[in-house]
Amino acid sequence: MDAMDREPSVTPRALATEAVHAGRDDLVGLGLHAPPIDLSTTYPSYDVRAEAARIDEFATTGARPDGPPVYARLDNPTVARFEDALARLEGTQAAVAFASGMAALSAVLLARASQGLRHVVAVRPLYGCSDHLLDTGLLGTEVTWTDPAGVADAIRPDTGLVMVETPANPTLAEVDVRALAHACGSVPLLVDNTFATPVLQRPVEEGARLVLHSATKYLGGHGDVMGGVVACDEEFARTLRQIRFATGGVLHPLAGYLLHRGLATLAVRVRAASATAAELVRRLVTDPRVVRVHYPRIGGAMIAFEVYGEPQDVIAGVRLITPAVSLGSVDTLIQHPASISHRIVAEGDRRSAGVSDRLLRMSVGLEDVEDLWRDLTQALSAPTAGPARADVPSAAVPRPVGR
Ligand SMILES: *Cc1c(COP(=O)(O)O)cnc(C)c1O
Repeated sequence: MDAMDREPSVTPRALATEAVHAGRDDLVGLGLHAPPIDLSTTYPSYDVRAEAARIDEFATTGARPDGPPVYARLDNPTVARFEDALARLEGTQAAVAFASGMAALSAVLLARASQGLRHVVAVRPLYGCSDHLLDTGLLGTEVTWTDPAGVADAIRPDTGLVMVETPANPTLAEVDVRALAHACGSVPLLVDNTFATPVLQRPVEEGARLVLHSATKYLGGHGDVMGGVVACDEEFARTLRQIRFATGGVLHPLAGYLLHRGLATLAVRVRAASATAAELVRRLVTDPRVVRVHYPRIGGAMIAFEVYGEPQDVIAGVRLITPAVSLGSVDTLIQHPASISHRIVAEGDRRSAGVSDRLLRMSVGLEDVEDLWRDLTQALSAPTAGPARADVPSAAVPRPVGR
C-alpha cells in the first residue's frame, strides 16, 4: 500500500462503516485487532527539553501533543480514539471527551466565560441538571430563557452561547436547528444531541457549532459507562482541551475504550430500538389509558406519554421494563421526569416547559416488542392508572403522534 491508500479520510464512508472503523485506522499497521488500552498516568522521557516544548505547545495552542502526552490529564491515546471516532460520526473536525455529560457542558461554559462571554441564551426544556447548572449560575454564567423564536432578540454583546436540546429531554420537543443557527448569527449554537445521536441527526450540518453528548446514554449504550463529549471545530476543541487540562474533568481510558466500542454498534442499536419505539407509539396513541403521546418527527428510541392515572403507579407496575432514570441502554427504562430527572427544576419552570406531572419518559431498548408491550400494558392497568378519570378534561383525548 502507498500512503494514499492508508489515508483514512480520502473516501467518504457511510455512518455505519465509520461506526465500526473510525478510530481504528492504524490498528492493522500495529498488528492489532482490538484497540489497545493505555492506562498510563505518566509518560517516561529522558529528553526534558522535548517535554518542555510539548508543554509549551499545548499551553499556547491547545493542540493535541505530538508524541507521548507527558501526563494523563493532558491527553490519552485510548480516549483520543473515541474522540476521533465520534468526530467522524458527527462530521466535525474534532471532539473532546470528558468524565460526564455535565463535565462536558461545564467545560463549554467555562470556555466562553474565560473569554468574558458569560451570558447564555437557552431554550427549555433541557435535561434537568443542565437547566439547574444554567439557572443557578453556579459557574458564574447568566441565562436568559426563551423560545426558539425569541433567541435573536435575547442575544446581547456578552452572549457566549446559545443552547438547545432537540429532541428535548423529556418532552421530545424538536427545534429547527437550521433556523435557530441563522438566528444565532456569530454566537456559537450548542445542540445537545444525546437523544438523536448522529445516526438520526448531525446538527453541525445544519449550522450548529457545538454538539454535546451525554455519552453515558446511547454512545456507551449498555448502561455501564459514564462520559461526555463535545464535537466541534478544531479551534473550539483547543480551548476545551486547555479547560479540561486545567480543571481535570478527564474521561478515564477504560471508559474511553468502552465508549469507542459502543460506537461500533450505535447505528444498529439506534435503528432497532427506534423501530420498536415507533411500534409502541402506534399502540399507545390509540390506548384509552393514555392522554397524549410525544414522539419526534425524526423518530428515535425515546417515547414520552401522559397517562390518565397516576404515573407513579405505572412505574411501580413494570416488571420487564426497568424503573430507572437515564436512557440509551440495551434494556428499556421508564421514569417519571417530575419526580426524578427534572425534579431539580422548579415546579413552575418545569410546567411551563411542558413537563406535565402526568408525563412518563421511556427509553426503548432492544427487547422484543411484544414482550415490552405486554409489560407496559399490564403496568398501565394498575388500579389508579385505569380508565379515564373525572378530573381530566374530556378534550384530553388520544391524538395523533406528534407534538
Ligand atoms: C444525561 C444527560 C445529560 C448529562 O449527562 P451525564 O453524563 O449524566 O453527566 C445531558 N444532556 C442530556 C440530554 C442527558 O440526557
